Amino acid sequence: MTMDFRIGTGFDVHRLAEGRKLLLGGVEIPSQKGSLAHSDGDVLLHAVIDALLGAAALGDIGLHFPDTDNKFKDISSIVLLKEIWQLVKEKGFVLANLDATLILEKPKIAPYINNMKVNIAATLETGVEKISVKATTTEGLGFTGTGEGVAAQVVLLLAAT
Ligand code: MG
Repeated sequence: MTMDFRIGTGFDVHRLAEGRKLLLGGVEIPSQKGSLAHSDGDVLLHAVIDALLGAAALGDIGLHFPDTDNKFKDISSIVLLKEIWQLVKEKGFVLANLDATLILEKPKIAPYINNMKVNIAATLETGVEKISVKATTTEGLGFTGTGEGVAAQVVLLLAAT
């Protein structure tokens, strides 16, 4: 018996600015600064989308949701993720597991991680035990360290059904 597994990675960065909401994994996190973006700027969900598209070889987020299209202005990234998951599902895949790392200096996001996992699992129609979200800082170094931006990276595995 052969098993068809497909690995995908995703990476995203958004600039942080005063007076914007900080949404991570579909959770609004109280913060002085939030993501500057055409959509809601959810860097974690954007990295998840790119990892799914990568694993299924379906292009990237910019191809599916161009930021020149006003239809996607301030759109919830949960809606975008749902749309991409439909495409991946139609190709006959289920999620084996997903592991994400958020890279930011502040605020501390530990209290919100479980809700992020629940949101991602629900959108990808899987159990929360298959979803991992971690966070790290860059020890004050670089754009994430100074709070100029937030980054996320994701690796995931799809299995053919
Ligand atoms: Mg993005």
